[in-house]
Amino acid sequence: MVPAAISSSKRRFQRLPVRWRLTAVSASLTFAILLIFGMVVGQLATQRIRDDFNRDLENSASRLVARTRIVERPFSEPQVFSPDLADVSLPNGATARVVRIDGQVLDEAPERHFHWGAPSSGVFSIGSLTVATQPILGPDSSVVGYVQYARSDERVSETITKLWILIIGGILGGTALAILGGLALANRAMRPIAALTSTAREITATRDLSQRLPPPVAEDEVAELTQTLQEMLTALEASQAEREAAMQKQREFVADASHELRTPLTSILANLELLEAQFANLGESEEHEIVTSAVRSSKRMSRLVAALLVLARSDAGQRRPTADLDLAAIADNTAREIAPNLGQRKLDVRSDAAPMIGNQDDLHRAVLNLLDNAIRYSPPDARILMRTARDDKSGSVTLEVADSGPGIPVAMRAKVFERFVRGVGGSDTNPTDGTGLGLAMVQAIVESHGGTVAAESSKELGGAKFLLTFPQRKAAPSKAQPEAPSGIEPA
Ligand code: ADP
Repeated sequence: MVPAAISSSKRRFQRLPVRWRLTAVSASLTFAILLIFGMVVGQLATQRIRDDFNRDLENSASRLVARTRIVERPFSEPQVFSPDLADVSLPNGATARVVRIDGQVLDEAPERHFHWGAPSSGVFSIGSLTVATQPILGPDSSVVGYVQYARSDERVSETITKLWILIIGGILGGTALAILGGLALANRAMRPIAALTSTAREITATRDLSQRLPPPVAEDEVAELTQTLQEMLTALEASQAEREAAMQKQREFVADASHELRTPLTSILANLELLEAQFANLGESEEHEIVTSAVRSSKRMSRLVAALLVLARSDAGQRRPTADLDLAAIADNTAREIAPNLGQRKLDVRSDAAPMIGNQDDLHRAVLNLLDNAIRYSPPDARILMRTARDDKSGSVTLEVADSGPGIPVAMRAKVFERFVRGVGGSDTNPTDGTGLGLAMVQAIVESHGGTVAAESSKELGGAKFLLTFPQRKAAPSKAQPEAPSGIEPA
């Protein structure tokens, strides 16, 4: 039970902050040392004060004895020759008397009467008085009586009490000083560590490894720790920079590769389409089917490469040149471009002015993708609605593409923007056409324009609805911004 209690308080002590532990240890040591020292000094001083007092009494008694004589006379009272006891004793607040050996009081200072007890040589305490008794010798050197000299030891006790108060005050004061000093010292010693902790916290919060730790002031263990941590941070920063550079290189490589792939792909597609047209003229044949399939694959590959290019550019943080433009015009152009693919579907475009700043090609690509999806994921007789608008109150412009197709399940709506996420729906109508990158690309384009994109369900048409929102261009038309930081290439 006891060892358990000890170990639990030990554990509690070890959990205290270092500064408190240091202070506690130094203060308890100081207290113990002061206590032992104070006790010894106090004891010695008390003893000394008492001895002095007693010796003083004895001396006074001896002096009185030297001046006192008892003359025995036969058949009559003995005669005492002594100084006036009142004079001798009273100035000191003392009292005295002369007694015969048989205890008969021969002379006594007036006023102070108390119970002296039986006289015998030495110093004794009686009540609050200390009594020194010295023998008076007769002519034959035999003891004939005693002189008793007494004084209250009140003053001595007072002095001793004061002494002890002083000693105890000293011990407590010294301990208090040790606590304050220990705390101040420990605080000072811990200050660099507190600074380290707060900087480390800041680095954790901001993830900014380039932050510098506070430079150490002394050449101590903390300085060594600071230096080691700083070296670690520098090494981490270097490796982070290396990794970042490698990733950036890779992203740029993907962007460059996709860009380079587009030209040969366009040429392949053009040739294949030419070939397809020729075979179509020759009527149904196996070759025609093969070429048709190749055209479809090439188209899909084109889409894939285009999406890859946009995503790689956005990953690499490449900014594209922007200009003042009207989203309505882009919507109209794209609608015209996609018209041949509509089949029986009906595309309704309501393009109100939607001025914004952006990259024409990228926005066009995004709208094209949305229309393409609306066609691919809706039945042949579906209705598609594209609308642009401006909202001056919120300072935004919007573009919306809705269809009467099957729509997107609620659970899928946030997911469809992720890369390579493909839902159902398209598979029935066109099993090989999707890439799973289209909407991810749309999102990357919208976000690079400071806008947002959301997948919803269309109240009007019952199918899917994609809503793109961008910041509106301010009333004063700003100039085109052709400034092209390095890495920007026209599409
Ligand atoms: P995919 O190449 O598969 O079309 P996207 O990123 O363009 O890739 O689309 C992701 C998924 O979102 C699609 O697989 C499809 O399930 C769903 N989706 C996109 N547009 C529509 C739409 N208009 N109607 C229904 N589902 C859609």
